[in-house]
Order: sequence, then C-alpha cells, then structure tokens
Amino acid sequence: MNLNQLVRPNILRMVPYSSARSEFKGQADIFLDANENPFENGLNRYPDPLQKALKQRISEIKHLPADQVFLGNGSDEAIDLLVRIFCEPGQDHILTLPPTYGMYQVSADIAGVEVREIPLLPDFQPNVPAVLQAADIHSKLLFICSPNNPTGNDIRPEAIRRLAQHFPGIVVVDEAYIDFSDQPSATALLPEFPNLVVLQTFSKAWGMAGIRLGMAFATSAIIDLFNKVKAPYNINQLTQEKALDALRDTSAKDTMVQTILEERKQLIAALQPLPFVQHIFPSHANFLLVRVQDPHALYRFLVERGIIIRNRHNVLLCEGSVRITVGTPAENQALVQAMTDFSSAVSSLSV
Ligand SMILES: *Cc1c(COP(=O)(O)O)cnc(C)c1O
Repeated sequence: MNLNQLVRPNILRMVPYSSARSEFKGQADIFLDANENPFENGLNRYPDPLQKALKQRISEIKHLPADQVFLGNGSDEAIDLLVRIFCEPGQDHILTLPPTYGMYQVSADIAGVEVREIPLLPDFQPNVPAVLQAADIHSKLLFICSPNNPTGNDIRPEAIRRLAQHFPGIVVVDEAYIDFSDQPSATALLPEFPNLVVLQTFSKAWGMAGIRLGMAFATSAIIDLFNKVKAPYNINQLTQEKALDALRDTSAKDTMVQTILEERKQLIAALQPLPFVQHIFPSHANFLLVRVQDPHALYRFLVERGIIIRNRHNVLLCEGSVRITVGTPAENQALVQAMTDFSSAVSSLSV
C-alpha cells in the first residue's frame, strides 16, 4: 500500500494550522502567546493539542506506542476525519456492510462521498468475495463494525484478516463494543497491516459517553494525517482530565463490564420463554437484537411504561427486531416485567 496515493492531494499539500501551544512546547513561567485570559481558574489555558499525558496512559493500557494513538471528540470525529482525509468527493467512495452503524453513511453524505453497500450475509458475517469484487482504486475506506451494531455479533477474525490483506484502501475496524466481546482486539493486527485503523471509544464500556472521547489506533503515518486535519484543540481540558482520572484505575470499568455481561445472560434467560419473542440473536455487545411478533406494538407498549428501546424493524436483515440495551439490574427487571405484561396483554387479545 502506498499511503500517499490513498490520501486526497489537497490534504497531502496543505499546511496545518499552527497553534501557540504547538509552536512552544517547553517549560516557562509566563505565557503571553495565545491571547488567553491570564487569571487562573484551572481552565483559562488552552488544552494540550496532542493530549500527550492522556495518550501516554492509553498507550500503556493498550500496549501500543503513543504515536499510534489519535484521540477524537468521540469516535464519530475519527470517522468523519477518515472520510475527509481519504475520499475525494464525486470521485472516491466508501464501502459499508449493512446492517451497521449509521455514522459511516452520514459522514460520507456530508462530505458528498458515495457509499457502496455490500450487505452482510444472513449470519451477519461479511461477504468477503463480494466486498473485494466491489472494490477498486477509488474504494478508499471499508468500515467493519465488530461487534456489529445493531446485530451484536463479532465479525470473524479470519474475515477481518482477509479484508485487511486484499482491500485496496484503508480498512477501519470499529470496536466500540470490544470490551463486551471475548474476541481479541484487531489492534493485534496493526503491525501486520499498515492499512488498518481500529476505532474504540469511552462511550460504552468506560461509561463516559458524556465526555465525548474516541480513540483511533493506526500506523504513525496515518495518525500524523489525523493530527494534520483535526481541529487544533479538539479534546477539551475537562475531557482530558476526566479520562485520565478514569484511567488511573481500570478495575471500575472491568467491574461494570462484568455486571453488564452477567445481566445480558440473565436478560436472555428471562426473555427467551416469552411467546412473542421469536429469536434473540447471539450478542457480544451490551445490547440484544430481539426478533418479536409485533415490534411496533411492543415499542409503543414499553413507551407507555416509560421504557425506551430501539425499533430496528426497518433495517435490512433486522425485520421484526428491536434493539435493547442492557441496563442496570433494576432497569432490566423493570423491562422484563413490562415485557411479561405485554405478553399477557397480547395473548388476552388473541383469545
Ligand atoms: C456507540 C458507537 C460508537 C461511539 O461513538 P462515539 O462518538 O465515540 O460516542 C462508535 N461506533 C459504533 C458502532 C457505536 O455503536
């Protein structure tokens, strides 16, 4: 792979914005270089544009060099930047594997970049020959979501490996739910495949969707491109501090993940016997895709009870299904009670 041939020419040519904090990196007593308010309140200074302390800690936890880490305002920022770095509007395209996360399409639409969809097979695994057949020199990005949203399954490592090996562009593996899976992260493949980008996030297992922090792991050459096009201070000071706090001790995250996995198991056991539940798809994420008799009626019934789930009936290969996030033990108990009541309501109607 020749990275420079994949990057948009204007991105290769451009000179990135040079901020005050990126021009002077040393220690000093008096900073009069950035037009900040000088009166200290803990937040009057611009944050570190490259988030060095935070990346150092992430690098230790993920066993990857810090120069292979990019941090974004959510992984959604990383998705958006990938499209803007690699895809020339009206000329290049991205490949997605529906049913999958909606932001790949949205970012491409905003950029005016075509999306080619290669549906997953009925077992929700990629159709590898069809993907490779559809690819050409204008196929700049392939988005693989594993575990996949909204189906919940892992994408088989062998499929990821074959796609990384043969796809002519960048292969993005979105691992938003990887902490809930027993499959190893695709970051292990980074030394082997220079065209691989792995996305993770603080929004799910880490319990910090509110701070907006996403991670991208790739070769340092690709990370340099992210840094070239990102907004200078894309990760604010409060987010950097909160994330560093959370990363000091990762056991709280591990405990939450364990609880969610146990609850996922219990939820499956409780929902399986309900007569209107037709199928619960195997999940390696913190949600269940459940095919039911009447998803619209179930959705409305639960809304009445103050419980909101996601109706996925209109999504390819998910006909008749709803997506249910695993909640706290009390929330799941309330959900099971409400779904049991729905079951009684439905059966009393049909007699
Ligand atoms: C939730 C989710 C994300 C997270 O996006 P953030 O911007 O980091 O909150 C990314 N990818 C998928 C597939 C998701 O479901």
